[in-house]
Amino acid sequence: MTFRDLNLSNPLWNAIDDIGFSKPTTIQQKGFSVIMSGRDVQGIAQTGTGKTLAYLLPLLKLWTFNKNRHAQILIIVPTRELTVQVAEEAEKLGKYLNIIVRAVYGGTNLKSQAYEVAEGVDILIGTPGRILDLGYHGSLNLKAVKRLVIDEVDEMLALGFRSQLKHILDLLPQKRQNLVFSATINSEVEALIGEYFDNPEKIEAAPSGSPLSNINQAMYRVPNFNTKVNLLEFLLEHSPAMTKILLFVSTKALADELYGKISAAYPDNTGIIHSNKDQNFRFNAVNRFQDGTFRLLIATDIIARGLDIEDVSHVINFDLPDEPHNYIHRIGRTGRADKKGEAISLVGDLDLDWLDSIQEFMDFRIAVLPLPNEVFISDELTEAELPKINMKTFLVNCPKLRMTPVLFMKKRTKTKKKILKSTTKTK
Ligand code: AMP
Repeated sequence: MTFRDLNLSNPLWNAIDDIGFSKPTTIQQKGFSVIMSGRDVQGIAQTGTGKTLAYLLPLLKLWTFNKNRHAQILIIVPTRELTVQVAEEAEKLGKYLNIIVRAVYGGTNLKSQAYEVAEGVDILIGTPGRILDLGYHGSLNLKAVKRLVIDEVDEMLALGFRSQLKHILDLLPQKRQNLVFSATINSEVEALIGEYFDNPEKIEAAPSGSPLSNINQAMYRVPNFNTKVNLLEFLLEHSPAMTKILLFVSTKALADELYGKISAAYPDNTGIIHSNKDQNFRFNAVNRFQDGTFRLLIATDIIARGLDIEDVSHVINFDLPDEPHNYIHRIGRTGRADKKGEAISLVGDLDLDWLDSIQEFMDFRIAVLPLPNEVFISDELTEAELPKINMKTFLVNCPKLRMTPVLFMKKRTKTKKKILKSTTKTK
């Protein structure tokens, strides 16, 4: 099947030819006619399956010019980076259509985005908070929305956007088509869909939870943080095939700590991205990773959602995420669009529980690689790795240690004196 077999139009076929895609992916094939029929759709698709194009293509085909230029298509996504990415894809596809695409997201000037939106917009892509702000501000008229896409809805709910989503849904016209995309379906996703959508038709790219077959997964058992750092340095030094590495850690603090260590050895080609960094820094980091300046980008889960970076050769999980579906998202940053990818996890003692639930979720066992002999096994533990009981005792005893000797001495002296006295008396 080629894109010519889909009932598109010349402007769309020409745009696809310019991009260079030849065959629609599974989700694009499955989704096209259902979305064209006007039905509500629930798409289950992991990142890397081509799901963005799967909804953009039929939506652009269904779009009709209206001189009012109030948004007809609203696409809600969880992160700022994804907003920009989806907008870029919509711009490329809509290149030969007279269509205005706008991206709105927090962390940037509300007034200038309000001005742009008020100027006119056909497709609006944004994060929930900023869409609401613009709606309340009055610059964004949501009453013309005919088609709504909620992309990565599972992630949006996990991030706590539930009430913002509901407020947006309340501002939209009742009569509209809804498309909800999610990598995983859980009870919260089902509840939202059940409440707001009209018996959506399910289309699925791959069974929920199954990793993409073109990603090779492996893991090392590593005892602790410092040994993980040693292993990472070894891999960076000895693996020329690791050309573009996206490395995940669970917390911002850990990302900063690791960045401090690795960038000391590789100052020019290591980047970091997490939600405490300002928006320009974040875009910059992604761009420099994208264009190959950075060989290694250290990231937290929230930033990584939906990021589409070409040719990521390796995803390294410096630790394992506490949600199995986040593991699927992390590794989905490599092996995109039918390319081969490698995912390597450094599994420490603290990760073992997560490892079990991830393997159970995927119904797949990750191959264990032997730790290279050259890697120095450190026995120095970080604060988080120290046994909890020792930590408590240490903290509780600390202040006493400084106070006790003086009091103790005094008491003992008194007692001694008393004893002496009594001894004297008796004598
Ligand atoms: P997505 O799952 O939407 O994030 O897309 C993953 C990647 O696949 C993006 O880089 C898309 O540009 C690319 N892609 C989407 N559709 C196709 C296609 N039909 N053929 C080849 N690559 C595609």
